Amino acid sequence: MNDQELLEWYERATGFHKKRAPGLLIAAAIIDSCSLRLGAVKDRLNAVCESVSCLTDVIMLMTGCTIGNRYLTIHGDIGRFALTLFDRADGRGVRAFIDLDRISPDETPELYRFFYRTRSAEVKAGGEARLKSGEQVIKEFLTVRDKVIGLQNVQVERFGKHNKPGAARCSQCGESFLQKNGANRCSICSGEFSYYRRID
Ligand SMILES: [Zn+2]
Repeated sequence: MNDQELLEWYERATGFHKKRAPGLLIAAAIIDSCSLRLGAVKDRLNAVCESVSCLTDVIMLMTGCTIGNRYLTIHGDIGRFALTLFDRADGRGVRAFIDLDRISPDETPELYRFFYRTRSAEVKAGGEARLKSGEQVIKEFLTVRDKVIGLQNVQVERFGKHNKPGAARCSQCGESFLQKNGANRCSICSGEFSYYRRID
């Protein structure tokens, strides 16, 4: 993918993510490199994202591996800005990340500050300064893109179709829910889990 195409993905990603962030363009670039190295797959393309971040959204947008279709697994606790794309047929995959050793503070100073979280207080505060810095980060990243994206060939340990629980009707609320361990009530009705209070 050339820079122009990447910038187009950046605009689409900004629309989806609802925030303009240079990480979206960097995400698009590492996904593109990863996918190029992996090549054609025999079964479905699946993805693993190692953080809950803008990268997660760009994976969904660009690859069609989503949370809803379960082709995307998120291991958010790892917290790395990295992903693996793999073939569901055999677990053959490629992992992509940013190689910090290859980011030079002299050659690409703003990109360096972005990744080492040392951008100025003014930039961190947001507003115009942040937007300007973001544009600079992107400009610098595009000049060193191929150099700083790290790729590893990997074998994914757990692959294949997910066993999706079957749906049943909750005996208490009457709503359809995904049944686990033969339970006849959903986790809200059984009191096992809670996230809201009824106020009507
Ligand atoms: Zn229920």
